[in-house]
Amino acid sequence: MRIKYQKIGDILIVKDDLNEEEIKYLVEKTKCKTIAKYTAQITGDFRTPHLKILYGKETETIHKEHGCLFKIDVKKIMWSMGNIKERERMAKIGNKDEVVVDMFAGIGYFTIPMAKYSKPKKIYAIEINPDAYHYLCENIKLNKLDNVIPILSDNRKVELKDIADRIIMGYVHKTHKFLDKAFEFLKDMGIIHYHETVAEKIMKIRPIERLKFYAEKNNYKLVDYEIHKIKKYAPGVWHIVVDAEFERI
Ligand code: SAM
Repeated sequence: MRIKYQKIGDILIVKDDLNEEEIKYLVEKTKCKTIAKYTAQITGDFRTPHLKILYGKETETIHKEHGCLFKIDVKKIMWSMGNIKERERMAKIGNKDEVVVDMFAGIGYFTIPMAKYSKPKKIYAIEINPDAYHYLCENIKLNKLDNVIPILSDNRKVELKDIADRIIMGYVHKTHKFLDKAFEFLKDMGIIHYHETVAEKIMKIRPIERLKFYAEKNNYKLVDYEIHKIKKYAPGVWHIVVDAEFERI
């Protein structure tokens, strides 16, 4: 039997409804406690999933990835399998002298691996959704991290100025609208990891134009950048991240 699934801890997420025989097969094969399927696209500013439970009832689990533990309730919080490589990349990209701001921290998708492996002095991890914030705090404890400061807030309301060497903007659709705030967090020099979903044709143009526009508006210049593809988001559309280096003018 061939059934595609994503495994988050001991919970399986499948694409289609399953019959009894298929459920029995998957439970025996994977020892999962719950099977669910997404019924609609992840929506809203909180990026809340919509789930239908097909087997079992518990939706909280602990997922292990790259030596990190992520406690998550899959009914309340999204988990993107497609971002696995980016989570690994973020684990290695910082260094111990840095202060980092993760503007869209979620349950610590990027914060946890970065805090554990790059060991920056401090990561301010900002999250607006109380459910995600709850798991962010749980995950800081689970991974025994003492360099993460979780903040439950809309990042636009956080009053931290000139403190960041590095900023993570792991959010899509309207990320550019948060760039003014990112420049407020940034020191005289620093790096912003700017995510965007963009049509392949303009992938090398639009994000850079936006970064240059907001940099100038905030008296910075873009000194260097690299564009990385994260995953196919929709036909002809990519989820990309730009590692962009800025200097105050
Ligand atoms: N990059 C992550 C990954 O690897 O799966 C996904 C991050 S998730 C899409 C974005 C998070 O940003 C959500 O948890 C959402 O609640 C949070 N968020 C949205 N708007 C926000 C805001 N204005 N301030 C702080 N957090 C915000």
